[in-house]
Amino acid sequence: MAEVVLTGLGKAYGDGTRAVTDLNLEIRDGEFLVLVGPSGCGKTTALRMIAGLEQITGGTIHIGEKVVNDVPSRDRDVAMVFQSYALYPHLNVFDNIAFGLTLRKLPKTEIDHRVREVAEVLELTEHLGRLPRNLSGGQRQRVAMGRAIVRAPQAFLMDEPLSNLDAKLRVQMRAQIARIQREIGVTTVYVTHDQTEAMTLGDRVAVMRRGLLQQVGPPQELYDRPVNLFVAGFIGSPGMNLVSAKLSTDSDGRYWVSLGSDALLLPESVLHQRPQLQQYVGGDVVVGIRPEDMEDTALADAREGEILHSVADLVEAMGSDVLVHFPVDVPPVVTDDTRELAKDAGTDDLPGVKGKGTVLVGRFSPRTRIYEGQPVAAWVDTSRLHFFDPATGSSIW
Ligand code: ATP
Repeated sequence: MAEVVLTGLGKAYGDGTRAVTDLNLEIRDGEFLVLVGPSGCGKTTALRMIAGLEQITGGTIHIGEKVVNDVPSRDRDVAMVFQSYALYPHLNVFDNIAFGLTLRKLPKTEIDHRVREVAEVLELTEHLGRLPRNLSGGQRQRVAMGRAIVRAPQAFLMDEPLSNLDAKLRVQMRAQIARIQREIGVTTVYVTHDQTEAMTLGDRVAVMRRGLLQQVGPPQELYDRPVNLFVAGFIGSPGMNLVSAKLSTDSDGRYWVSLGSDALLLPESVLHQRPQLQQYVGGDVVVGIRPEDMEDTALADAREGEILHSVADLVEAMGSDVLVHFPVDVPPVVTDDTRELAKDAGTDDLPGVKGKGTVLVGRFSPRTRIYEGQPVAAWVDTSRLHFFDPATGSSIW
């Protein structure tokens, strides 16, 4: 087991594409770090550089005590798990897991012991004699993991290992990977574009965009204190509502944000947490409201908060909650970040933009009785609003 430390890591391809720029990350011994970001952000390139499968064009990679910049992949003592399981079809589960150890000519009894131990952890013991074609997708993925674990490497490097599995299996395997990693405690770098996977698996999550690290921290920190519009919109599902608003004060010194025809009074706690907000009084801010920080006013407890009024545009009953979409009369937030978020979501519409208007999504209790075309009074937990600078997209603190 070892630390993996990336210092000023960079990769420019021959055609000038800068896939990774000045990446600094310290992955602690035994830590599970997830690299996440939209397609093309450079996460796979970063992982392949750690693995030694891609030449670096700048910076340093430490694995344990050693600088491995010039160490060939096979001598780096890391194990990769890819999205394609790449099992040997003619070998049974035992021999697939044992493959690397057999190559290294370890004594037969040791191989037997290690393979059985790993099979036990992965709940594969009863399948050891089977060929890959007679296994389910999840079992094949576990065999691929077994091959990595049995080598007892200094670090695991995983590139979207669950993306070939169906949704239900992915959730099951996610839980298993988390359990196995905790049990064996090997430093793990895990690449995914799926923010839910990142949030549920990572001790810490590193969000990348266009080759640049945006923020790294525990999942809850990314959710509660995103550094910019991009991280704010990327983390969370459905994504944070982002709207243009004006900030003002009244004669009593109270702070208001106007969202179309409604104005929300800010609790004092927000100003304490975000003293920089004072500099934006009389000007524009981008306000972020997480869908889960809204509720049908009829069902909201009498806590501090304010109300937005609209008419329901779309109501999606999810069982555990109800997503209510409603328009607000404010201009959409058009920045590089929101364009990138739209691209990642596979749509031409910017987040929260429908046609010409801005549409918010509230995650309401399943007890809500709001239907499409009916009035919405959305209670907003104003103590949990997020604020961003409209020009830079940075969080205002
Ligand atoms: P995905 O989730 O789609 O795999 P990613 O975040 O893992 O994306 P990378 O595969 O690391 O992204 O690619 C980062 C950037 O480098 C992209 O713009 C990609 O087009 C570019 N790139 C990757 N490989 C090469 C290459 N061999 N030559 C030139 N550009 C490349």
